[in-house]
Amino acid sequence: MSALTVANELIERAKAENRKFLMEHEAKAICREYGLPVAVSEVAKTPEEAVEIANKIGYPVVMKIVSPQVIHKSDVGGVIVGVKTPEEVKRAYDEIVNNVKKHVPNAEIIGILVQEMAPHSTEVIVGAIRDAQFGPVIMFGLGGVLVELIKDVSFRVAPVDKDEALLMMKEIKTYKLLEGYRGAPKADLDALSDIIVKTSKLMMDLKDVAQLDLNPVFAYEKGAKIVDARIILS
Ligand code: ADP
Ligand code: MG
Repeated sequence: MSALTVANELIERAKAENRKFLMEHEAKAICREYGLPVAVSEVAKTPEEAVEIANKIGYPVVMKIVSPQVIHKSDVGGVIVGVKTPEEVKRAYDEIVNNVKKHVPNAEIIGILVQEMAPHSTEVIVGAIRDAQFGPVIMFGLGGVLVELIKDVSFRVAPVDKDEALLMMKEIKTYKLLEGYRGAPKADLDALSDIIVKTSKLMMDLKDVAQLDLNPVFAYEKGAKIVDARIILS
């Protein structure tokens, strides 16, 4: 099956269920189809199943709520990072379910996403919105508190090619951080530009995607890893 077919099936299913956004595992499945480097993960329906998946992935893992009613997962106690043992996995499973039930009483809980825990590094954001006039517009910026504090982002109208992606990154004020300023880990600009180009391709293909957020993306000296993906439908 082509990336387009897989993506359209997931999107059609969400639309049939009157959903306005995709859950993280669905958004990541689409990203993976487009060759984007997403953290390995699988949905568990029971604590026991979560342990099986964690054993397969390797510890530590990150666990997250999977619910069509929850878009900002950490706001409702829906994310636990650094889960180190099978016992902790079972405990985290129940804790997340309880947290979410408390914060969002009507939430339908599909399960818990068990995910490879990516080593921390410089956080960047790759985003996209579909503008009524310009069509898909791609955004790049530094992640974490910096993006909220100084709105240090750059934009391009899609399609964005590799050279344009590199220029986009150079435009942000904190670009020097990505080059390894004052001991910051040097970022793999080739890997990051590849993420921008593939995001652009995805947005050109999938007209039902109104907004895409890869936030955060961990930038490494070699490679990069997308640990959260959000897709909002038109
Ligand atoms: P939210 O829906 O609240 O944005 P995220 O999936 O972004 O939830 O998780 C919240 C935070 O947890 C992230 O910003 C990141 O710092 C950390 N995190 C999430 N997934 C992973 C992962 N796979 N590896 C390492 N850290 C992660
Ligand atoms: Mg996030």
